[in-house]
Amino acid sequence: MNSIFTTLEKRDERNMNEMKERIAKIKEHIERAIKISGRNNSVSLMAVSKNHPYEAVLEALNCGITLFGENKVQELSDKFPHSHPNYHLHMIGHLQSNKVKKVLPFVDSIDSVDSIKLITLINKEAKSIDKEIEVLLEINTSKEEAKSGFLTIDEVYRLLDESASFTHVKVKGLMTIGPLSNDEYAIKTSFNTLREYQNDLIERYPQIDLNTLSMGMSQDYLHAIEMGSTIVRIGTAIFGSRGY
Ligand SMILES: *Cc1c(COP(=O)(O)O)cnc(C)c1O
Repeated sequence: MNSIFTTLEKRDERNMNEMKERIAKIKEHIERAIKISGRNNSVSLMAVSKNHPYEAVLEALNCGITLFGENKVQELSDKFPHSHPNYHLHMIGHLQSNKVKKVLPFVDSIDSVDSIKLITLINKEAKSIDKEIEVLLEINTSKEEAKSGFLTIDEVYRLLDESASFTHVKVKGLMTIGPLSNDEYAIKTSFNTLREYQNDLIERYPQIDLNTLSMGMSQDYLHAIEMGSTIVRIGTAIFGSRGY
């Protein structure tokens, strides 16, 4: 018995040290990218734990991560407790209307709001459980058909024109997923588009705090930081491959 536990503990310790090193490296890269781009605001590191067990979340927490992201309601609600005072949890995947009620008690923010209908429903459900929820508006900057997100800025105007009626929802900024390609130009164009949307919206709605830009994943977060990202969403580079 004892020897089995010792072996397990040794393996856990090795996993943990490896994760610590990976996270340290990512943080180093983030700092360097911030310096190179001459920005003066900081970047939050979100660990995307989808397809990894809760033990991996606890390991990351132990490595100093305090922000997590999940993209599916079922997995998120199976994996995480309702209340988690030591860290924040965001829903980052496409959210169907009929799952809003289920996901709301678990999360601090929904980063994938892609319609007026959805934000209206989130507000209604948040009100009914007396919760204030933050959201980001997802923009389909690469206009790939398989992706969700707003396709035009006019739709975003229509949403923000109504924002005073969303009593329990706070819009904090924008989110996008870069193009699924290695084409550096296409990636930068996509992130630059999000930045331009933000500039336009800040000018048009100075009373709303729209400072958050969630963009950049394991493969493209350095470009995203260069283009102004304030949250990078990293899965594979922290937890290893998901092995679908
Ligand atoms: C899975 C996922 C990520 C993380 O992707 P990696 O390439 O593993 O870093 C980021 N954002 C969203 C919306 C995701 O679904």
